Amino acid sequence: MADGRTPWQVFRDERYIGNSRVDPCSKILKRNLCFRWLEQNCDPGKTIVYLGLDWTEMHRYERAKPYWSPWNIRAPLCEEPYFTKPDMLAWLKQTGIRPPRLYGMGFPHNNCGGFCVKAGQAQFKLLLKTMPDRYAYHEQQEELLRRYLNKNVAILRRTAGGRTVPLTLRQLREETEKSSRPLLPEAEEWGGCGCFVDV
Ligand code: SF4
Repeated sequence: MADGRTPWQVFRDERYIGNSRVDPCSKILKRNLCFRWLEQNCDPGKTIVYLGLDWTEMHRYERAKPYWSPWNIRAPLCEEPYFTKPDMLAWLKQTGIRPPRLYGMGFPHNNCGGFCVKAGQAQFKLLLKTMPDRYAYHEQQEELLRRYLNKNVAILRRTAGGRTVPLTLRQLREETEKSSRPLLPEAEEWGGCGCFVDV
């Protein structure tokens, strides 16, 4: 089951650029599709939906329960024995499963190819460093959409003069290229991985 659109196509259709608070990409391309598939193929009384949340995200697991109702959810990684991330990666290795390529490149989350509207500045800087062509694609898409919407909007935000203002990928790249030091306190913000569960 696939919608067929990219996150940027969804943002254009919804006239809204996703960000750390609102994620039309995840809602439309993942959650709504998943709910539709469950409704068409499963019985809520006999079905368990497994989520990839671990014990460090117990709060999200609790918040996810009412969100997923009437589907019963479980998150085995929130249960004993409590595995750390290195434990999980070692276990994967033992079973012959290669960890996602992004982890090896230093990304904390295995999301949309190193890009994510929920990511912070640090992740976008890493994307710029490790996959500049991919960063350039997203920068271009953001610029096109800003022009199309005719609004000063962006995925990222920063504080300037006591106000929160948009920070475009273009600005972030230009400022990063000028200085190797973190430019702002938010520069080390990696962002979360709230995709799919919406909590
Ligand atoms: S990983 Fe990020 S960009 Fe991709 S669908 Fe989820 S929220 Fe959107």
